[in-house]
Amino acid sequence: MSTKLLYMEDMQALTCDAYVTRSERKDDKQVVYLDQTVFYPQGGGQPFDTGVIATDYTKFVVEEVRYADGEVLHIGHYEGQPFMQGEDVTCAINEERRRLNTRLHSGGHLLDMAVNELGYSWIPGKGYHFPDGPYVEYQADLGEETHEAVTEKLNRQMADILTRGIQTEIRFMPKEEMSTYCRHVPEYLPAGKPSRIVLYGEFGVPCGGTHVAKLADIGSVTIRKIKGQTGTIRVSYEIQ
Ligand SMILES: [Zn+2]
Repeated sequence: MSTKLLYMEDMQALTCDAYVTRSERKDDKQVVYLDQTVFYPQGGGQPFDTGVIATDYTKFVVEEVRYADGEVLHIGHYEGQPFMQGEDVTCAINEERRRLNTRLHSGGHLLDMAVNELGYSWIPGKGYHFPDGPYVEYQADLGEETHEAVTEKLNRQMADILTRGIQTEIRFMPKEEMSTYCRHVPEYLPAGKPSRIVLYGEFGVPCGGTHVAKLADIGSVTIRKIKGQTGTIRVSYEIQ
């Protein structure tokens, strides 16, 4: 049975009710499956959530979250008796970790927005929004001598965007309609997950990650480094 991904509809929810569809040992790990979840499974360059799944008498500490074949795998260990199938549980994710991951992820799209507004025809590729050195890669040609000036322009543009009071908005639509809102729609979108875009004001991105409610929640974003000159360039950033 596939797991309903609650963060797809409400990216700010930190808790939810659910019931246990099964609990089993898999590859030497304890895995809990639920009918629905707020836990974000790693993907799209965003790390997984951690947290707790509990009943009144027992709890399961979630250390890792993955997605496979339509199901979310909550991986961790029990403190107390294992859950029974069909049992009602409450889920609570680690708020601090999620907020940081969300800000880092949205920071990457703020960079995309600035690139777009400055009229650079770069094509976004891989995004890595982990705390240990986030970056976005683009297909672009950018001579080394321009790196400093481009960095300054991007920093200024991102700061400007953050002053506009922009909110994010979720819309579900088939892939064919996404190009109406999104400048770049990747060939490949994850199978089995709801087909969703996130609008940063007018700027749409096909994305299944979690995003801030209003852009100002990101804090501020600055470019750390631009690497590469032709083909794939990597723009590293940090948030404050
Ligand atoms: Zn994204």
